[in-house]
Amino acid sequence: MVATILFVRNLFRQQRLFRAQTLIIVIGFVIPFLGTLPGAAGFIIFGQRDITPYTFGIANLIFAWGLFRYGLFDIVPIARDAVMENMSDAVIVLDSQSRVVDVNPSALDGLETTASQVIGLPVTQIFANRPDLIDLFKNIQPIREDVTYESPSGRRYVFDSFISPLRDQHNSLIGRLVVARDITEQRMVEAELHKTHLELESRVQRRTVELEVANRELEDKNAELERFTYTVSHDLKTPLVTISGYLGYLKEDIRTANMDRLEKDSQRIAGAVEKMQRLLNDLLELSRIGRISNPFEAISFDGLVKEALDIVHGRLEERNITVQIQPNLPLVYGDKPRLMEVLQNLIDNAAKFFGDQPHPTIEIGVNGEENGRAIFFVKDNGIGIAPEYHEQIFGLFNRLDTQIEGTGIGLALVKRIIEIHGGRIWVESDFGEGSTFYFTLETTQ
Ligand code: ADP
Repeated sequence: MVATILFVRNLFRQQRLFRAQTLIIVIGFVIPFLGTLPGAAGFIIFGQRDITPYTFGIANLIFAWGLFRYGLFDIVPIARDAVMENMSDAVIVLDSQSRVVDVNPSALDGLETTASQVIGLPVTQIFANRPDLIDLFKNIQPIREDVTYESPSGRRYVFDSFISPLRDQHNSLIGRLVVARDITEQRMVEAELHKTHLELESRVQRRTVELEVANRELEDKNAELERFTYTVSHDLKTPLVTISGYLGYLKEDIRTANMDRLEKDSQRIAGAVEKMQRLLNDLLELSRIGRISNPFEAISFDGLVKEALDIVHGRLEERNITVQIQPNLPLVYGDKPRLMEVLQNLIDNAAKFFGDQPHPTIEIGVNGEENGRAIFFVKDNGIGIAPEYHEQIFGLFNRLDTQIEGTGIGLALVKRIIEIHGGRIWVESDFGEGSTFYFTLETTQ
């Protein structure tokens, strides 16, 4: 009697599948009890005073039916209340047909459903949109896998999932136990750490490249400085040696009253002084670039060319050089005095390195654009430059022919000015074929 009452009470607490099973047990218990009542009340049924033996028979049939219909007693939820209800891991128990026979509150949270809605449902229905999960549940070996899962409301989870087959004492598969630990936060932290790690690595790499570039620049600067010191001491010493030598000759000229020689020797001294002056001026100019700059403005390139030609007109006339300037040159944007130096140096060089060209011609113009900047050119039909020197000539003090006057500073100066203007300069030439110096500058419409 007490057992029956307990079963009836349990009937209302149980989940759907067990509720049916409990109901069968209760009916099985109640029928023999009811069978005793007619006899006790003095009724005679089917000629029998006591029909209890028959009711036991009926109860047995009901138990037998329950046994086959529900697999009654196959999986018994022992102590589930204590363990399952309080577990933070999601737990789902499946029967041999992969129907949910038990599920704990954590799992229900994730599924966003209630036990009564999910108990008895096959996993193929619960995870209809996740064939990969359904396959996972079919495993007959215990497995452990990270499973990503999106709840019906769109919450994303990562579960560390264990799926273990459940077997009876005959080793027959009677179901599966799924235990899933929510590691979403842990994975997020790991991903964040990984991202930070990658970011740090790329930052370190960037810095290393920057440092390498800076190092190389520093090495170049050092080499340039070494060449500078060497050339300054050498090139400055040469005129000094000339001056001091010819001063000795001057004394001699005065002593012998040789006026002609005195005149020639003092000219040599003046020439050496002039050379020293030029060298010092160029060096001073080079050291100023980058430090002193004038405000940028829109400048007529035609105007620049004409002013530069005025400055070097002596050399142009001396060699009877023809200069052709392209009409309608654009306005450029930059530091006017510096850009004047660029043109002056390029035109001066073109005029200097004509060799024995009978028709020396310089062309100045614009030809196309690069990265939104116009490409200007200064072209000559002079001695040309062999390709292996195309880079070198832009270095400091690099002169290909020391017989022709010069300091080897001009093109280094030009390159720096163009770079300060955000442009680039290069030469196209071959030995004996003339040279074209190209440089890019920002133009204004
Ligand atoms: P400098 O003219 O004082 O020698 P630059 O730096 O202006 O120094 O030029 C470096 C070298 O590049 C020159 O000495 C010369 O050998 C070569 N060069 C420059 N411009 C030309 C040109 N238009 N044609 C041939 N060679 C040139």
